[in-house]
Amino acid sequence: MTSTVRTRIAPSPTGFLHLGTARTALYSWAFARHHGGQFVLRIEDTDVARSTQDSVDQILAAMRWLGLDCDEGPIYQMQRLERYHAVIEQMLAAGTAYRCYATPDDLDAMREAQRERGEKTHYDGRWRPAPGKALPPVPEGVKPVVRFANPPDGLVSWDDLVKGPITISNEEIDDLIILRPDGVPTYNFAVVVDDWDMAITHVFRGDEHINNTPWQINIFRALGAPLPRFGHCPIILGDDGQKLSKRRGAVSVTAYEDAGYLPEAMLNYLARLGWSHGDDELFTRGQMVAWFDGSHLAKSPAQWDPAKLAWVNAQYLKQADDARLAGLVAAQLATRGLLVAADARMAARCGLFKDRCNTTVELADWLAMYDAPVTPEAADLATHVTDAVQPALSALRDRLATCAWDKAGIQLAMKETLAEHGLKMPQLAPAVRVLVCGRAQTPSVDAVLSLFERSTVLERLQPRSPVL
Ligand code: GLU
Repeated sequence: MTSTVRTRIAPSPTGFLHLGTARTALYSWAFARHHGGQFVLRIEDTDVARSTQDSVDQILAAMRWLGLDCDEGPIYQMQRLERYHAVIEQMLAAGTAYRCYATPDDLDAMREAQRERGEKTHYDGRWRPAPGKALPPVPEGVKPVVRFANPPDGLVSWDDLVKGPITISNEEIDDLIILRPDGVPTYNFAVVVDDWDMAITHVFRGDEHINNTPWQINIFRALGAPLPRFGHCPIILGDDGQKLSKRRGAVSVTAYEDAGYLPEAMLNYLARLGWSHGDDELFTRGQMVAWFDGSHLAKSPAQWDPAKLAWVNAQYLKQADDARLAGLVAAQLATRGLLVAADARMAARCGLFKDRCNTTVELADWLAMYDAPVTPEAADLATHVTDAVQPALSALRDRLATCAWDKAGIQLAMKETLAEHGLKMPQLAPAVRVLVCGRAQTPSVDAVLSLFERSTVLERLQPRSPVL
């Protein structure tokens, strides 16, 4: 039997893909995959002034990077205007919507009077038809909006997939504008027509939309359309307990790609931010799909934790294929003007250093030394490159000029040098590291050196004047 579960993500292209939207996209995607259903991508571009193609491109790229493949879309709302207009006509004919000719000035005056009377401001229904009611004369030259005739009383209830049962009184909701004078529909109307037309069965979105849901449910009902299930996920808080915002660090998915995070780590971390499967912290995409049935979604806001994200990323980095990391590191180095081939040697370097890094940026920080000059700290030179080791360094350099250029060959050259000069490894190795790598601590020195060009090592080990 084929499943009928259909979910969607409906970003507005007025900026990058926000982490909160990426998380609801992930939940929607995983839920559809879990049920063998479909996941739809819809671009809500009715805010014409703020929507940009650049933003659409960024959103699509971020979705691709995260591997959230959709079965339909992107579907653009601005390409569906005819459909919205047709539904508006039906609603006007059915009396579930009406034209309102109140100008912005009229509405300002209305609200002002309400405030003076100590009332909560609301649309007073002046253009809402009613049996026996005389409507004002239609003014010349005013383009009307269309308003939804919201049920005047009764309750709107739904059983939220995240928050549980929610009930709002219709008395708290006024007649919403659903079509602007320029013929562009508003969010709450277009979203309903789309979710209906696209046969969406489950809507996961941020809880900033909870107040919109009663209107949407009423519009679904007015259209005789089946209701989807709604799940409103709490916002993500920054590590200071405030809403995650640009000012409090990166909030776009792309920024984390640039900062050297792996998409599978990002998905894993985002998934746990508002959902759990027992105590599991690390899981594959397949496991998430197997487990994500819409239960165990957190009711309270999750806190963004950069340290935990870094830890998760480090775990994935350790397991990542070295050839893949070579490509990512080469791309990072290229942004620094260092053009290096993502070849087998680069892969071996990644394999050697990945265990000590949280991100591919940190990995690139390490691996830059192979192709760019290093500048050892004066303090490190003074501590490690002492007069006592200078002769041994020089002898080692001679051996390295002719030894087999691999780990074993380099190890032998070092052992022979140590024996010859009566030194121990902890005396010679840090000096070699400081000179060749620019720092005193690295993985095993023979392994590290073997992945350099021999000529680079010989050049960096050239005798230098003593540091005072
Ligand atoms: N365009 C809305 C947003 O980005 C979509 C909300 C929804 O999923 O209904 O917040």
